[in-house]
Amino acid sequence: MSRQARVLVTGAGGFIGHHLVGFLKREGYWVRGVDVKTPEYARSEADEFMRLDLRRQESCAEATRGVEEVYALAADMGGMGFISSHHSQILRNNTLIDVQTLEAARVNGVKRFLYTSSACVYPEYRQMSAEVTPLKEEDVYPAQPQDAYGWEKLITERLCMHYRQDYGLETRVVRFHNIFGPLGSWDGGREKAPAALCRKVAVAKLVEAKEIEIWGDGEQTRSFCYIDDCVKGLHKLMRSSHAEPLNLGQDRLISINGLADLIAEIAGVRLGKVHVPGPQGVRGRNSDNTRLREVLGWAPAISLEEGLGRTYAWIEEQVRAKLADRPRSAAGAR
Ligand code: NAD
Repeated sequence: MSRQARVLVTGAGGFIGHHLVGFLKREGYWVRGVDVKTPEYARSEADEFMRLDLRRQESCAEATRGVEEVYALAADMGGMGFISSHHSQILRNNTLIDVQTLEAARVNGVKRFLYTSSACVYPEYRQMSAEVTPLKEEDVYPAQPQDAYGWEKLITERLCMHYRQDYGLETRVVRFHNIFGPLGSWDGGREKAPAALCRKVAVAKLVEAKEIEIWGDGEQTRSFCYIDDCVKGLHKLMRSSHAEPLNLGQDRLISINGLADLIAEIAGVRLGKVHVPGPQGVRGRNSDNTRLREVLGWAPAISLEEGLGRTYAWIEEQVRAKLADRPRSAAGAR
């Protein structure tokens, strides 16, 4: 595939999609971005940006016309708070987006289609302990994802496999494990744990509060992967010949309490943690990167400390700007 190839990134107004557009531009591709919204925090570098609702068949046809490759990232999604309380909306919207984007890609003669799935496809029964065994790709069956979000991702993984077998469309499937970085949602309800904790720490620092709230006992564990590694891995997978689903994440396990402490250290503050009821997702989740290394000859390398440093700096800036618009008493650290 020549570097002048025309590629589509759906969800280009969102966190990963926006970063991916920038990465692909720097790699020399012609890029079309599609989303219902433009990026919130920076201008898109896409050659062409279409605002389209991909739940509509005609929008999917327009979006995939004249491109050779599709990175399918558009989804109605958010952190645990959102995912655990919007099951019908997520299942309906993401099914419509995914089924129709894939079919439109086939009809329009797209050569390669990369679908962004999630570690949320893995069964709940393998993630009951904070000291979880890292998840291998084949651990996904027998299936029992925790939420509608994961079930929908799993069905679309299978749809990609069948489109490859039945129609010869070269599909690629990536399973992300908690991607984080600047220019992503950090407040409003869709933010994920790293961004939410950066915001809480920044607010506490700036209003001189002594503590932050943590959902649950904070002993639940995850691994976190910085956005620059994520987009590099996506591109490597698209260029590879590996058609089966592949984990993409870090394999360093850390508790949510540990993550909060690390962010407070980066911010240069000491904060207490108040544990409150809230959605926590599975008890523990980590990525087994054996196959990732085998297939791509590469694995994410940016350390959690380095990624959090960049992310915290950006979120503190956002919080500072927001607090400047609001009376001090209105901005709680919780
Ligand atoms: P995001 O919410 O920032 O981006 C998704 C984008 O899709 C948003 O800009 C949204 O407006 C767009 N979208 C939603 N409905 C649409 C519609 N009907 N038509 C067109 N666009 C629509 O999320 P993200 O973190 O950038 O995630 C990108 C992809 O990666 C998603 O498919 C997500 O499920 C998957 N994923 C992300 C993570 C993570 O840690 N961020 C983890 C696992 C999987």
